[in-house]
Amino acid sequence: MSELRWKAIQVAQSRAIPEVEIPSGKVSDYYRSNTFTDEVMKELLTAESYEKVSQAIRSGENIEGKVADEVAAAMKTWAISKGATHYTHWFQPLTGGTAEKHDSFFDVAGDGQAIEKFKGSALVQQEPDASSFPSGGLRATFEARGYTAWNPSTPAFILYNRAGSGTLCIPSVFFSYSGELLDAKSPLINSTACLDKAATSVAKIFDEKVTRVTATCGIEQEYFLIDKALYLSRPDLVMCGRTVFGHSLAKGQQLEDHYFGSIPSRVNAFMVDFEFEALKLGIPLRTRHNEVAPGQFEVAPTFEEVNVASDHNILLMDVMKKVASKHNFQVLFHEKPFAGINGSGKHNNWSVSTDTGVNLLSPSDDPNRKLMFITFLVNVIKAVYDHADMLRATVATASNEHRLGANEAPPAIMSIFLGSTMTRVLEELENKENFDIAIGENAYVKLGINKIPSILLDNTDRNRTSPFAFTGNKFEFRAVGSLANSATPMMVLNTIVAKQLEDFKKAYDAAIAKEGDSNKEGVILQILKDYYKASKNILFEGNGYSKEWEEEAARRGLSNIKDVPEALKAYISPKTIEVFEAMKVLNKRELHSRYEVRLENFIKKIQIESRVIGDLAQNHVVSTAVKYQTRLAETAKSLVDLGLKEEADPIINIIKTISYRVKVITENVKLMTDARKKANNQADVHETARIYSSEVKPYFDIIRRQVDKLELMIDDQDWPLTKYRELLYVR
Ligand code: ADP
Ligand code: MG
Repeated sequence: MSELRWKAIQVAQSRAIPEVEIPSGKVSDYYRSNTFTDEVMKELLTAESYEKVSQAIRSGENIEGKVADEVAAAMKTWAISKGATHYTHWFQPLTGGTAEKHDSFFDVAGDGQAIEKFKGSALVQQEPDASSFPSGGLRATFEARGYTAWNPSTPAFILYNRAGSGTLCIPSVFFSYSGELLDAKSPLINSTACLDKAATSVAKIFDEKVTRVTATCGIEQEYFLIDKALYLSRPDLVMCGRTVFGHSLAKGQQLEDHYFGSIPSRVNAFMVDFEFEALKLGIPLRTRHNEVAPGQFEVAPTFEEVNVASDHNILLMDVMKKVASKHNFQVLFHEKPFAGINGSGKHNNWSVSTDTGVNLLSPSDDPNRKLMFITFLVNVIKAVYDHADMLRATVATASNEHRLGANEAPPAIMSIFLGSTMTRVLEELENKENFDIAIGENAYVKLGINKIPSILLDNTDRNRTSPFAFTGNKFEFRAVGSLANSATPMMVLNTIVAKQLEDFKKAYDAAIAKEGDSNKEGVILQILKDYYKASKNILFEGNGYSKEWEEEAARRGLSNIKDVPEALKAYISPKTIEVFEAMKVLNKRELHSRYEVRLENFIKKIQIESRVIGDLAQNHVVSTAVKYQTRLAETAKSLVDLGLKEEADPIINIIKTISYRVKVITENVKLMTDARKKANNQADVHETARIYSSEVKPYFDIIRRQVDKLELMIDDQDWPLTKYRELLYVR
């Protein structure tokens, strides 16, 4: 009998819900209490320094010298008063997660006295031992040093360990000795700057008062939650974050009884607990609910400036993992932990808004704003159409591949859902012969802009199958993986939209120079009409998960890149390099390094999965199957000895079927290992990745098919791997 599996179930079933300290008072009483907020800064700094820091926060610049010393002193005072003993630069290396290296405030002075110290120089810059962070060949040995630098655009915060002692975390960027960007956050900051510049100059056509445009983002986060003991009983979950085997549930999500159902009390206690921690860190969480699959849930905050939203999402994931462990849960952020039921994503809601308080992707009653709205809407469509492959590349990972283009996932085609109202408006625009306005005519009525309703929210029919959907006042990029750092997809979205807006402004200026500015509306709509015609192939209102759409998209010439190594090539295409260099977000070398890091990450993930599959198949499944077979053989033999030859036949048939499955498994594990060797022997990293994808990975399904069949044949008491129904329903 499989000890581990039975014990895990027993433990999971007898869990007590840990005490959750319910904070007293309103959320506003403790919201951001663990962050070094603007208000705290204002209180602790001189007016002059405070002004300098505020300016740096607005412009995204770094802070140095005397001001840094003053901020450091203020941070230290505040952090120590809140029980912090250490500080760290908190940054986002290209691995996808976050990194910290804790230093103590405590030091010993020359005279042996203990002191607490934190200088401006330590706040501003640090040199972590960076050689073990991936750099995709950016740091040759002579320049192996990497630096982290404080970036004040997200406030510093304190994270506490279980013992209650805290670490002051200083949000930072990470770069090499020669200045190349080694993290996910720096390019995101660059992209918000170029988007601000381009979008402001376009917004000014409509409203001179606009001086700044920011991208806003609200990230819905899906996840699975399972008991820790059950998690630990599955080596594949521990090593790969997903189950590589497991027969699908008899009762999965088909009854749709979990979605938005009442939240189980043990899960609810966990949610209350992590939400409390997140709110104290200034993460504005607002919604929680069950998701479609059993054991699957979602959390979502109120939107914020994109850089902050992205930092907050990755911090939230960390907080959730820590709090889960206190509740004896494991959070699974993997995009597809279980076959046969829904996977998890992040839905990145994205928009742009002005410092005059206008959401540029939201129409209004004012006709001028309607024109501004449609300008931004069409430019986003054009940007996504032109750079769909790069957007696709940002969500291409080994784990997200199960959600995009795999056999039980939607196709990996980038398309945009607009909703029926805006589709109609744009179709009318396309059919307009000319945009001439006679003197005395109402331009807005003549041009049809008045037909855009002021509120679109109610008539944008929701299409859950679209990877990039307009939802009335924002776009929702749904192809982002639940495990991903949003910084990269958001960075690319900002950059391509910025580039597009820049092009639009140039076209507009050229036309005005030629035709004069008596019919600005007509000039704008003529350009938008051309853009719409050029990019409308990406618009799709139907079922994005259907076979018909795959065929239709192929006819339209849209790419459907299923394979990660293939998708990643967009990182180094001449088109991408041109745009990212022109917008000063990433240079060619930095794009190449990201391409390599992502290829290597893909290779490692598939390599680990392949090894785990081999090990589990041979040492857990086949060994169990053979033992069971021996028992069956003994039974069959006794029957034959008793003269019951016919009665022994069904048992002999089972033995034969098991033998067949064992044979297929062992043969294919061997072939998979050979393919792995071949992949590892390539000199070129893309070639290694390609072989892993096209020659190693196909064995996963072949082996799994047989293992999952054996799970149904072998005595439940003997089966070594905790089953789906136990993983997903025991809590
Ligand atoms: P749903 O899509 O489920 O109806 P909401 O529309 O309320 O939910 O929002 C989903 C997410 O989109 C939330 O995180 C919300 O804060 C965010 N969101 C709403 N408006 C904007 C905006 N202008 N820019 C970016 N994100 C937004
Ligand atoms: Mg959702």
